[in-house]
Amino acid sequence: MTDRGFDLEARLRERERAGLRRDLRPAETVGARARFADDPRGDAPDYGAESLVFASNDYLGLTGDRRVQRAAELAARSVGTGAGASRLVTGDTGLHRALERDLADCKGAERALVFSSGYAANVGTIDALAPDVVFSDELNHASIVDGCRIGADETVVYDHADPDDLRAKLAQRAAGSLDSGAEEDWLVVTDSVFSMDGDVAPLAAVCDVADEFGAWVMVDEAHATGLFGDGGGVVQREGLSDRVDVQLGTLSKALASQGGYVAGDEALVEYLLNAARSFVFSTGLAPPAAGAARESLRIARETDRPERLWETVETLRAGLEAMGYEVLGETQVLPVLVGDRDDALALGDRLAESGIVAPAIRPPTVPEGTARIRVAPTATHSAAAVDRCLEAFETAGREVGVL
Ligand code: PMP
Repeated sequence: MTDRGFDLEARLRERERAGLRRDLRPAETVGARARFADDPRGDAPDYGAESLVFASNDYLGLTGDRRVQRAAELAARSVGTGAGASRLVTGDTGLHRALERDLADCKGAERALVFSSGYAANVGTIDALAPDVVFSDELNHASIVDGCRIGADETVVYDHADPDDLRAKLAQRAAGSLDSGAEEDWLVVTDSVFSMDGDVAPLAAVCDVADEFGAWVMVDEAHATGLFGDGGGVVQREGLSDRVDVQLGTLSKALASQGGYVAGDEALVEYLLNAARSFVFSTGLAPPAAGAARESLRIARETDRPERLWETVETLRAGLEAMGYEVLGETQVLPVLVGDRDDALALGDRLAESGIVAPAIRPPTVPEGTARIRVAPTATHSAAAVDRCLEAFETAGREVGVL
């Protein structure tokens, strides 16, 4: 065969050289306890037979919950395993509507719309809104970045969680164009909880600044839905649902399912279901995913499951800090700062060998010199599991020389 380009092996080798090659690691279950299968390339750490995962987004431990599993089963039996078509064709069901009502209710919004993923919700929404300018926090999730690439005429990145820099950038743009967001369509977009830093955006201040310039505000609550504000997220906790124009999130983390959503006023949802290409041209959310998400949302709102998570978070944070680790953030995401990428990798490997799965996060995912272990506990971790995690951090930290 002639040499026709697309040398993917070479591209993979390049990634390998740059330390950017990733692998899939099949686990038997996604719950707090997982046994990892042999790594196909044979160089994965030995996770042992009884590994504990301290790095999943299954924050409430509901992926293995019988009630949620039964809700998924019931949806599969009574509605179907798949929606069969786009919602706009024949894929719309009462179950989708019920989930959207529940989401709108917990968000304090008029209406909600579910997408097949949070990624699709971000890309489809920003593309459909087609803003003249998006002002985007520098640590926003890749799906927001991709939405901006596809849908925005111009994207201005502001310093992480910094409303003063946001104001300066809005003012600069306003001076440059003699326009403001009132004449052009300007959108300010931020995650609420940042997944690699575990911190929370200063949402009230962001809304104030956006108001000054007539810009809309969109907040991605992927890591907050089901956990804060009676399930509704940080926007709801801070009483900002009337000031945030677009509330968005995923069903795939605390809600233990799959799918994404947007909540807002009637006009927003009606417009998106007509104009968001990732909604219009994609099959409706699978009914089992909708059924599971509804039940998870109910459990998140009506039981003490979130409190169990917060207790575990406090124990872990206090224990790690008492050992001398610097733990960033203020949420269920506990980034343990290591600094050097090789130290972080070594620490992650040592933890894995002692059966604690909490991988290193390295540049370019995080800035140079801030490599870290991202610890994310699950509400169903037992006290013994948390002790084991802390012991492993102590031993591994001493061995690697970061304590
Ligand atoms: N937004 C944020 C902030 C996320 O962390 C993620 C998932 N990593 C997404 C959106 C995408 O959600 P999904 O996994 O449902 O596509």
